[in-house]
Amino acid sequence: MNTTTNTTLTVFYNDEYVNPNDAETRTKAEPLARMIEQGEVPGVTLKSPQSVTREQLLQIHDAQYLDELWGKHPRFLASILASTGGVIAALDQAMIDGASGTLSSGLHHAQRAADNGLCYLNGLALVVHVAIERYVLTDVGILDTDAHWGGGTFQLVGSNPKVRISDVTVSDFDRWQSSESRHHLKMVNDPSVYLEEVKKALTHLEGIEFLVYNAGMDPFEDCGIGGMRGITREILEERERLVAQWCIDTETPALFTLAGGYTGHNLDLEGVARLHLPTIREFQRII
Ligand SMILES: [Zn+2]
Repeated sequence: MNTTTNTTLTVFYNDEYVNPNDAETRTKAEPLARMIEQGEVPGVTLKSPQSVTREQLLQIHDAQYLDELWGKHPRFLASILASTGGVIAALDQAMIDGASGTLSSGLHHAQRAADNGLCYLNGLALVVHVAIERYVLTDVGILDTDAHWGGGTFQLVGSNPKVRISDVTVSDFDRWQSSESRHHLKMVNDPSVYLEEVKKALTHLEGIEFLVYNAGMDPFEDCGIGGMRGITREILEERERLVAQWCIDTETPALFTLAGGYTGHNLDLEGVARLHLPTIREFQRII
């Protein structure tokens, strides 16, 4: 992008993202933010976003469902509102800088009127709506490399002709189906073809005006949920390099969100957070 005004990658996060004692989805951003603050990824600035409002959420979620969420613990509610707000903030920033991201997680399974698979608000569907309305885009792409399918996202934006979806999975959960050519789905059963399938998923998105990248690390073989034997750290690092290089080569502005990543037998929360560093490192190259 020739409109670049920053020399650092802005990544959105604040302490409200974290809901203590909750799943990794709402706790891993804290150690990850600490790693960024300690300079593990040079050229990255953390910035606090505005939380999403109920009015914004009504674009994609059912009013009664939102009432239920507003009745939950204030700390939990604050967490999902802050991290969903971060996705919108990353869109605005990426439209200026060419790339941005947010330490948000727990998005792609959320449906119009129900939570699913640890996801409560579908920030991916919401940000696509905002991109189309605020920036008058007509061809927005979602790349989802979480281990699981993004059935919630498909429910919310699958019928929108201005949205293309590429979904590469290694697990059966939250499966969706489509015969539309703008939707590309692949469930990988053999780790040796994983990166080739990611390349195909990117090729499917060629020509989009903006990329929303849901960067899941739960395909990693040591993750207790989603992990596939043979999907190594190195493979996931190369995946992130491929995605960032595609954005550079095609001059496509992009934002990332974190998606899945879970502790396991050999993996603690710090280790899960560390898995997400390559996404940030690679997006920094786009700036
Ligand atoms: Zn997942």
